[in-house]
Parts: sequence; C-alpha cells; structure tokens
Amino acid sequence: RTVYLNGEYLPETEAKVSIFDRAFLMADGVYEVTSVLGGKLIDFDGHAKRLERSLGELDMKAPCSKEDLLQIHRELVARNGIEDGLVYLQVTRGAPGDRDFAFPDPETTEPTLVLFTQSKPGLADAPASRTGIKVISIDDIRWGRRDIKTVQLLYPSMGKMMAKKAGADDAWMTEDGVVTEGTSNNAYIVKNGRIVTRSLSNDILHGITRAAVLRFAREAQMEVEERDFTIEEAREADEAFVTSASAFVLPVVQIDEAVLGDGAPGPVAKRLREIYLDESRKAAI
Ligand code: PLP
Repeated sequence: RTVYLNGEYLPETEAKVSIFDRAFLMADGVYEVTSVLGGKLIDFDGHAKRLERSLGELDMKAPCSKEDLLQIHRELVARNGIEDGLVYLQVTRGAPGDRDFAFPDPETTEPTLVLFTQSKPGLADAPASRTGIKVISIDDIRWGRRDIKTVQLLYPSMGKMMAKKAGADDAWMTEDGVVTEGTSNNAYIVKNGRIVTRSLSNDILHGITRAAVLRFAREAQMEVEERDFTIEEAREADEAFVTSASAFVLPVVQIDEAVLGDGAPGPVAKRLREIYLDESRKAAI
C-alpha cells in the first residue's frame, strides 16, 4: 500500500514519523475520515471544511491548501486502486526537538501530514446495515471540546471494548442521562415519525454525515427535531440509528436491554440510508 507523508508518496513500510511528534506524545493532532464509493470521494468538501475548523480551534497551521488535499486524496485512491473504502487523514503539530507542554513555534516546527487508504469492498452493503446493531449506554467522560476531531480516542476505544464485552456492537454515551453521541457516530431516535438528534454544541462532533442526512430528511418532508433526548426516551423509541462517514446511516435495533419495535431496522432509518447513499454517490467527486 502506498501512503502519503509530508509531500511524498511512499510504501507504508518506509513512512516514518519522529518519536517527538506531538501526536505520539500528547495526542496533539486532528483527523478526518472520508469514505470512497465507486472510486470517488463522499462529501470531501465537508471534511475539508471541518479539518480547517479543527486546526483553527487548536491554533494549528494548515499543512496545505484544500485543493492540494483533494489532489492527494485522489492520487492515493488511484494508486491503491480503491473502489470502496476510506481515506484517513491526520495533521499533527509536528515534531519539535524535545518534549514540552507548550506548543512549539509554528515558524520552526512544521505540521506532520499523513494520509492512507483502507480498502473495504462492499462498504455500502455491510451486513450490519441489514440486521441493525445493538448498543449499550455508558457514561460520557470525555473532555469538553468534542467538536474538535482530535486523535485523543482512548475513551471511545474503551467504549467499543465495553460494548464488545457486553455482547453489543457499540456504545452510546450519556451525560446526566442525556445521550451525547456514539463512540464514533452521531445518535438519533425516531418516535411517531419524528427524527430526534442532539443539537450542535461543543458536546458532540459536528458530523458531516449528520449535516447531509438532516438536510435530506427535511427535503423529503420528514420531521426533524434537534434537541436533547434521554437514554430512557431512546429505549422507548420506535427506532434509532447512527450516522458516520464510514457507516453512513446504520439502524440501531437494541439499546441496553430494550429491543426497539420488532427488533429489525425501522422504515425511517432504512429510507434515510437509501437516500443518503443515492445522493452522496451522485455528488461524489
Ligand atoms: N461523533 C464522533 C465521536 C465521531 O468519532 C464521528 C466520526 O468519526 C462522528 C460523530 C460522525 O462524524 P462524520 O459523520 O463526520 O463521520
């Protein structure tokens, strides 16, 4: 596999980053995941814009222009022959000569830019999209700037492990009984045809898939409510689902012990998944 590191396309075994890189020592980096369907990028523009925002919030220098980023994404997809899969991009504050809590001078320390691809044949037809997934609820103990897409992912990893141990597929995080989001996705419930999802703030990641799905839902005259909802309300919902760049729209059929509806993916989640995939494929670049 060919990967990209700071201006070069290299075999993955030859791409090396300093042990003083701030991402390695301090999780001082941000990332994006863009999916690829039929060899084309889904919602590249949204991901590039959010990257710019994440960098700005952390006073980090952009490693290159948006046009260059698009070119690098396309080049990697082509070189690795990716039909369906994803492109992972990471920008870190780079590697100053030593370890220090204070940020290094951006004039002397260049950001580290890494991109690689993952091939995922049949990405849009994952078995979980037909069966739906089971989630457990766990406390959200992450920091207060979840709107910044940092590589600080230890707690989400632990959440996935807690879910696995409990025989579930994923976890929804809650604060005072109110759902924030999934470990790597945004969370939604449906009651009497109304789609409910938490509104945007620093408490959750501003999902690129979320923005698209809510737009498509409104265009299809579906009712959307952006507000807090509790885990109890979720357990009594008619259906539920999650969204993310790599899972698109994925039905949730069980929350803790509560089976939703008849335990199969609900009509709203199924319809939104179809619309999202159709529209995104049409707009892919
Ligand atoms: N929330 C969290 C915590 C995430 O990690 C992700 C994606 O990785 C999302 C939401 C969904 O965001 P997007 O739709 O941009 O992939």
